[in-house]
Amino acid sequence: MSRPEVRSKPCAYCGRPFTDRKRWSGRDQWDQVLYCSRGCRAKAAAQRRRA
Ligand SMILES: [Zn+2]
Repeated sequence: MSRPEVRSKPCAYCGRPFTDRKRWSGRDQWDQVLYCSRGCRAKAAAQRRRA
C-alpha cells in the first residue's frame, strides 16, 4: 500500500507553497488548483480583469 502523499506547489498569486490536504485531498482537482486560498484566487482574477 502506498502512503497518501502530501503534495505541495507554489500559489500562482502569492508564491507561497501550499498543500492539498484541505479541500482537494484525493481528488483530481489538485491539478487545477492554482492558488492557496480563495482570496488569492479572487485577487488574481481581479488583476486579470484590470490587465
Ligand atoms: Zn496564495
